[in-house]
Amino acid sequence: MRIMVLGGGVVGVTTAYQLQKDGHDVVLLERNAEVADETSWGNAGMVAPGHSFVWSSPKAPMTLLKSLVLKDQALRFRLSADPRLYSWSWRFLMECTATKARRNTLLKHRLAAYSQAVLHEVLAGEDVAYDRNDRGILYFHRTQQALDAGVQNMKLLESDGQLIRVLDRAQVAALDPALAAAQDRIVGAIHCPTDETGDPALFTRALAAIVTRRGGEIRTGTTLTAIETSGNAVTRVLTDRGPLKADAYVLALGCGSAAVARTIGIDLPIYPIKGYSLTIPVGNRPLPPTIAAVDEHNLVAISRFGDRLRVTATAEFAGYDKSHKPADFAFMKRVTQELYPEGADYGRAQMWAGLRPMTPTNLPFFGRRRFGNLYLNTGHGHIGWTMSHGSARITADLIAGRTPAIPMDGLLA
Ligand SMILES: Cc1cc2nc3c(=O)[nH]c(=O)nc-3n(C[C@H](O)[C@H](O)[C@H](O)COP(=O)(O)OP(=O)(O)OC[C@H]3O[C@@H](n4cnc5c(N)ncnc54)[C@H](O)[C@@H]3O)c2cc1C
Repeated sequence: MRIMVLGGGVVGVTTAYQLQKDGHDVVLLERNAEVADETSWGNAGMVAPGHSFVWSSPKAPMTLLKSLVLKDQALRFRLSADPRLYSWSWRFLMECTATKARRNTLLKHRLAAYSQAVLHEVLAGEDVAYDRNDRGILYFHRTQQALDAGVQNMKLLESDGQLIRVLDRAQVAALDPALAAAQDRIVGAIHCPTDETGDPALFTRALAAIVTRRGGEIRTGTTLTAIETSGNAVTRVLTDRGPLKADAYVLALGCGSAAVARTIGIDLPIYPIKGYSLTIPVGNRPLPPTIAAVDEHNLVAISRFGDRLRVTATAEFAGYDKSHKPADFAFMKRVTQELYPEGADYGRAQMWAGLRPMTPTNLPFFGRRRFGNLYLNTGHGHIGWTMSHGSARITADLIAGRTPAIPMDGLLA
């Protein structure tokens, strides 16, 4: 079959790769000059089933409320004139019960763990260099009470097979000597030894090059402007470079998916939640982190990609605005510098902001709605790099009429 993947982020490109592996003729559309130039560019690069907890938890309503009045919160909720913000927020709040948070977290963990296994299969068969680090991720806490609560929370993921080790501050410093100078700020950490990191843009671009080498078409610089339908089928798509036809289509436009889906009568509650990142060269600094870490108190994530650090923070409701200013990065930079004073050349940090395609459940959309030849693979939220590989395989399986390798109850709309 000729299959057209709409969107060239990590979700679209991994989907094109898996479809090609199944023998399909693939064409991918991306509006930017390169793939992985939007949300898939500047994220923390954590492939982290250990970070599968949904944001729609019983604590979320109070956190949202507080962020309306308090400044400098890791979460910034602002009132806006956009009615979609309110309808999305209402649906998000409806997911915040303990029962739903538990169910959604377990579904997400199932998908994330499967996705990591698919990533490993890809790596076993392909030569993809993306500054991978497989030493796990440290989720560290600054008070004993918070560490104990973190360990308690983790029992949910442990019950689903997640490996964890609880470390005191000396063990943390032994695992990563780069944190030794900041030992007093940390009480201990949960180490998920099977979590890993790597640069998602390097990975996505390398995978796109493989798809192209094998005869697939990656059409960058091509903006999708409309989808034409007849009865229960998509007949063709319109782009700024003319109309294009395929036998089947995959919608993988990240934060662009909801608007396009609306034009053909599909309601996809995907709302952008902005995040910020710094990419900082290690330069000649002697003690860069050797293992990725999440400061659970400040909600700052730090990964090492070869000769660079990637630091991310903040969840902000700012519509589709991706602008940023130096003040947006001051806090995350200070936190990182305090933790790793000799870890990077902080004066040369590159600033970036991007939009997480969030759904109320924090789970992506799969499968078909209304149209027999249009498949969804979108809405991957805050751990889309983690979930992309498995989501791509699931989508390829659904298109082939095969049963996916993990149970899809609760994942198929
Ligand atoms: C600060 C931050 C930190 C994060 N950290 C992590 C992490 O550590 N681990 C993790 O797993 N995830 C993380 N994420 C989430 C992850 O980055 C996203 O879930 C993932 O990148 C989403 O991929 P995507 O392909 O769906 O979207 P995108 O990468 O945005 O791709 C969608 C593509 O569609 C294209 N497009 C849209 N509209 C059109 C159109 N009309 N025509 C043509 N092309 C179009 C866009 O240009 C874009 O390239 C983080 C996100 C942020 C913001």
